[in-house]
Amino acid sequence: MEELSKPCLAEVIAVTRSYENGRVRALRGIDLRIEEGDFVAITGSSGSGKTTLLQMLGGLDTPDSGEVRFRGQALSAIRDLSSFRARKVGFVFQSFHLLATLTACENVQVPMVESPLPTKEREKRAIQLLDEVGLAERIHHRPSELSGGERQRVAIARSLANEPDLLLADEPTGNLDRESTSMVMELLTRIHRKNGMTLILVTHDPSAAAYAHRQVRMSDGLIDPNAPNPPAVTP
Ligand code: ADP
Ligand code: MG
Repeated sequence: MEELSKPCLAEVIAVTRSYENGRVRALRGIDLRIEEGDFVAITGSSGSGKTTLLQMLGGLDTPDSGEVRFRGQALSAIRDLSSFRARKVGFVFQSFHLLATLTACENVQVPMVESPLPTKEREKRAIQLLDEVGLAERIHHRPSELSGGERQRVAIARSLANEPDLLLADEPTGNLDRESTSMVMELLTRIHRKNGMTLILVTHDPSAAAYAHRQVRMSDGLIDPNAPNPPAVTP
């Protein structure tokens, strides 16, 4: 029997975004549908608009025209976008964005500031998350005492702090060697499978993109319709 299409988690509809008074057109009309539980890689050369698109999906930036929807709701209609991000979206960045003065365990608790969990429970959850990413022995280390791969695993644990529905990773292996790259990609794949969350990975590394279920290629602010895995577009 043919598989029915899964419910839609996020939808990008005719989104444009430019910078410098329109001189730089980062997104020139993007349509993209992301299904619940999907694992999508967004690829494309540097400057093609990947980060801008990811920021739209995570409510970190807003379109000049067009709309982004999350479970059918327009992000532009959400009054408190920062609370939306904290509850629904996890972010992983190329340069980790860990706080240097905090231990791994404390870094993982940063997104829990608005969580109703008591302090002890937050700490317990952080330790559990660090265990899940294979860093049980590193919970009291500061970023400077960790390798690049370990730092990124702390950042991944942090991204899961509030059990997001959507995990956005922007070049998460961009600063890592081959070995750490495969470790981080295997970890993201395992987390995706186990938690059933939706994962969007921006990368220009084909070996990292190959972990995804489908790939969307960007080129000069547009989705490349000739890429091998063309995205499903809203009818
Ligand atoms: P990618 O992540 O694929 O490298 P980006 O989305 O970061 O691409 O950038 C797309 C285009 O928008 C590039 O030309 C970039 O220089 C430009 N751009 C991105 N952010 C800004 C900004 N804050 N101000 C001006 N130009 C920007
Ligand atoms: Mg980028």
